[in-house]
Amino acid sequence: MLNYFETPVIEILDKAAEKAGVKILIKREDLNHLYASDNKWWKLKYNLQEAKRLGHDTLLTFGGAFSNHIFATAVAGKELGLKSIGIIRGEKVLPLNHTLAFAENCGMQMHFISREDYRRKTEQPFIDQLKEKFGEFYLIPEGGTNAFAIRGCAEFAKEKIWPIGCTHVCLPVGTGGTLAGIVSGLRGETKVIGFSVLKDGSFLREEIKSQLVFFIGSNWEIQTDYHFGGYAKQTSVLTEFMINMKQQYDLPLDHVYTGKMMFGIFDLIKKGYFEKGSVILVIHTGGLQGSDR
Ligand SMILES: *Cc1c(COP(=O)(O)O)cnc(C)c1O
Repeated sequence: MLNYFETPVIEILDKAAEKAGVKILIKREDLNHLYASDNKWWKLKYNLQEAKRLGHDTLLTFGGAFSNHIFATAVAGKELGLKSIGIIRGEKVLPLNHTLAFAENCGMQMHFISREDYRRKTEQPFIDQLKEKFGEFYLIPEGGTNAFAIRGCAEFAKEKIWPIGCTHVCLPVGTGGTLAGIVSGLRGETKVIGFSVLKDGSFLREEIKSQLVFFIGSNWEIQTDYHFGGYAKQTSVLTEFMINMKQQYDLPLDHVYTGKMMFGIFDLIKKGYFEKGSVILVIHTGGLQGSDR
């Protein structure tokens, strides 16, 4: 098992929120591990258990050059004594950026492939080729999303969110695996709002429905207007907002996920989306390793 540190819930005292009569709480899940501090901890938990159960000594996964999932998998491999292989999208650029240099230091073996090849990452012939090259491995998909990841995120919801007694849970959404798990774990008792960080996030609605393995509820939605131009794109408005959050509330955010979500939450508050008396629990999903370095 990876180390896990219990994470605090902090309240943000904001004028706009006070005016709207809503309470903002932040679950600082970015502090759950010294390095692999993410929602990726929960997504990896049962994958690592399964890899062990099947007797694997090597993890293999996929990601881009700034991937939090690559970072977390490399840390997990080192901590648990498993070999790790990262199949990285695009050409190798030297010096390696912070994410990849750290992963390499953890012992991850990195293999760079073209964008065309990368698109084949879920095709069996391509995976067979990887097996020929690297030998047997436990495969974790891009972003870590699979049934084991969803099970881990459902557990997170049951153990760490549900007891807080909030009316809304907010989190950023990439593949939707974390949201699917959290919705499953909460069993419809709390409204879950996901903020898509992808440009056209509307496809996520169907995708997530197909991932809700334990519980098919309808008490969740995806906000698609806060992507700021698409995955990892940044604007000066977003940057300024994040600087402000850090200065005013000592809240560090990243520009890929949590910054966009937080911007969206404040925008919705201003637009009167949340009823008076709402208690919003914001999941800080981490991702700080990829920011500002
Ligand atoms: C990966 C990641 C997400 C998105 O999780 P999904 O399960 O892919 O939706 C959100 N926030 C951070 C910080 C992440 O690293």
